[in-house]
Amino acid sequence: MNALHKQIFDMLMESQYWTPAQMLAFHRHQLAHLLRHARQYVPFYSTRLDSVFRKDGEIDWDRWQEIPITKRHHLVEERESMLATKLPPNHGGVWEEFSSGSSGSPVTTRHNLLEGWVSAAVLHRTQRWHNLDWSRTFVSWSGDDGLISNWPDGIELESWAPSWLEPNHRGRSYKVNRATSQENVIEYVLRKNAPYLASRPKLLQSLAFATERLKTPLRVDVVSTFGTGITEDERDDIRRILGAKVLSLYSSGEGCKIAATCESGHHYHVNPELNYLEILDDKGQPCAMGQPGRVIITPIYNTAQPLIRYEQGDIAVRGPACSCGKQLPVLQEISGRVIHLFRFPDGQIIAPSLPNKEFVDNFGAKTWQLVQTGPLEVDLRYVTTDPGFVPNKAYALEAIRRRLRPDLQVNFVALAETPLTAAGKFILYKSELANRD
Ligand SMILES: [Zn+2]
Repeated sequence: MNALHKQIFDMLMESQYWTPAQMLAFHRHQLAHLLRHARQYVPFYSTRLDSVFRKDGEIDWDRWQEIPITKRHHLVEERESMLATKLPPNHGGVWEEFSSGSSGSPVTTRHNLLEGWVSAAVLHRTQRWHNLDWSRTFVSWSGDDGLISNWPDGIELESWAPSWLEPNHRGRSYKVNRATSQENVIEYVLRKNAPYLASRPKLLQSLAFATERLKTPLRVDVVSTFGTGITEDERDDIRRILGAKVLSLYSSGEGCKIAATCESGHHYHVNPELNYLEILDDKGQPCAMGQPGRVIITPIYNTAQPLIRYEQGDIAVRGPACSCGKQLPVLQEISGRVIHLFRFPDGQIIAPSLPNKEFVDNFGAKTWQLVQTGPLEVDLRYVTTDPGFVPNKAYALEAIRRRLRPDLQVNFVALAETPLTAAGKFILYKSELANRD
């Protein structure tokens, strides 16, 4: 397996310099396999791809845009029919990824090992761009695994370094779960003497604020963010307070590692070896450079649950070619899954976070939104069209007070429709206070 990892990594170090024509040929070769596989073995796609198949079975690439967009609700409603009944022999076993519902309801997607290996190699390539030292210690503040990685012990994982390196060149990897308080994360990173720290951008910004407020000596060399793109204010606060360089990964449960920041600036390089990425306007036409549009991905190796032209739920802007020499497409901006910070009268600032799947299972409503409406007051707004629906308010109250603050007043508000912003975005954690970030 180590040899295969190294082989994939070496290929990626070369393919980043491929010309656009070479990358197009690669995409067509891989996508042709995926389309044929999906049409034959995935009921959801049995007729959905008809427009691109010629009578002789060849693929008409000029009609690619006629393939209907796959949406998040399909992952929930059509889950069974989207799973492949058979996998290609060299694609390995399957694994499942749970994706929190920061842009809607939580979803689970199935992936195969080959995609996982390429995704891991893509991450190692990003770390190479940014000159991370694989022999050093890495701490991740993520995940809703409940009791498994609780502070103070957290959990030691397999080294984050590439598997082909000698064991004494592979640094340690630790994780504490997302329920860990800022104070305890700071203590943990200091105790592990870790120069590298990973989490979601908003959480890391809130950690920076806590570091400043508590006057702790925490400094890290590189902060690695994942999920949505990082905003300028988040980057600035993390850099100013933690002294950290920021490596931002644009990633999702559905598409794995979609893009990552170039070492030469704040823009992102798409990982086209993993996803075929389109940016479309409201009419479904490709956006021009500089024009914001919807992110549509086709993970090219996912034969377990093919996501062909899947709308990721984010907005991105294509940028001009990068001066670093890599030929990988550029995104100059990514925005989407918005989370506001909550600010409290005693100066505490947090990135609110509830265990999504557990919360949905126990509370009962699939779509909900937590809104700070006063200094110590929040609304839990939930969507239901059933007048007889009774959510488990006692559970929600306990969970919110335990995860956020014990002194919060919680109001329950039933809505008939998902509350979207004027731009069509869904804000899972929203602040309606005047001084919100
Ligand atoms: Zn670059």
